[in-house]
Amino acid sequence: TRVLLTGGSGFIAAHVLETLLQRGHSVVTTVRSSQKGQHILDAHPDLSRATLDYAVVDDIARSNAFDTAVISEPPFEAVVHCASPYHFKSKDNQKELLDPAINGTVGLLQAIYKNAPSVKRVVVTSSSAAILDQSQPTKVYSEADWCPVTQEQALIGPANGYRASKTFAERAAWKFVEDEKPNFTLSVCNPPLVLGPVVHHLESLGLVNTSNQRIRDLMSGAGKKSCPPTGNHLFVDVRDLALGHVLAVEKPEAAGKRFFMVGGKFSNKEIAEIIGEEFPELQDRLPVGDALKPGDYPAQGSYGFDNTRSKEVLGLNYRPLKDSIVDAVKSLQHLSV
Ligand code: NDP
Repeated sequence: TRVLLTGGSGFIAAHVLETLLQRGHSVVTTVRSSQKGQHILDAHPDLSRATLDYAVVDDIARSNAFDTAVISEPPFEAVVHCASPYHFKSKDNQKELLDPAINGTVGLLQAIYKNAPSVKRVVVTSSSAAILDQSQPTKVYSEADWCPVTQEQALIGPANGYRASKTFAERAAWKFVEDEKPNFTLSVCNPPLVLGPVVHHLESLGLVNTSNQRIRDLMSGAGKKSCPPTGNHLFVDVRDLALGHVLAVEKPEAAGKRFFMVGGKFSNKEIAEIIGEEFPELQDRLPVGDALKPGDYPAQGSYGFDNTRSKEVLGLNYRPLKDSIVDAVKSLQHLSV
């Protein structure tokens, strides 16, 4: 299958790219600059540009941003949309989070509808943020659930802004398909915190993607005095999530479904313990004893999950936390701060 992948310079998309190529698909990925595109080509010296190429889309929030990127020869049959801001440092939620997430998603779907009639499947990376409800912290969640964030809350604070950006973008995607009845069917991946090895071009540890920052911080000693609290205790390995995206491209039965792709529960305390056991040379930077306690599960319990659909419809199997942490640490060890 010939696939357009958005945001190929990102943590998750870089794994989606590898998995697509491994499974015999040809890929064009969008990036914000030709320099970022060149890094991706350089990492795959054996592939021709018929198998792997890039297109520059510098800002997905811009209207008609994807209008030419969706056109290709031979034409695309599937699109995977990973590009969306993921950070908690926004000062202007509308501009930095909501516009790129929502306009990026809707603009891409419009461009496909207008200019790429050969596309049969679109897979969108949404998030557990579009599923979980902060006011019910011990409920068991599935694809049936939606984050209740409101338009007013969306503008208050980076966490709400991010949650809303994912929820509103995903809702807009389902609405587009329902309203327009386009040439393609939609599948959505809803991962919680994504952990695992970095395969994208990364200049320094300071620039590591948001979800792996807690691993970097523990490795570098920033949590030694007190293990940071975990936040939401659900994770998935990036390789399992990438395979989930590709299976959602490949499997007809994925049409019209969202998939809560959860590998299991985790705590920052467990991450610190795994790093200490597997990398003895890092042990003296890690919290021990009472200093681990703030990173433990809360006494009242944490979010539950039901990932049955992803196992039954896609056939996904999930790696244990240890694999994600060990391989993440290995991928970051050679980088400097
Ligand atoms: P990254 O920050 O590594 O990747 C984000 C990608 O989006 C990058 O390629 C980035 O480009 C691109 N991007 C962001 N804003 C724009 C914009 N305005 N115009 C063009 N490109 C843009 O994060 P992840 O790989 O973790 O995230 C990928 C997707 O997965 C996102 O949709 C995120 O919401 C979702 N997700 C991630 C989770 C996680 O724990 N990692 C959990 C749940 C969902 P550039 O590299 O040039 O900045």
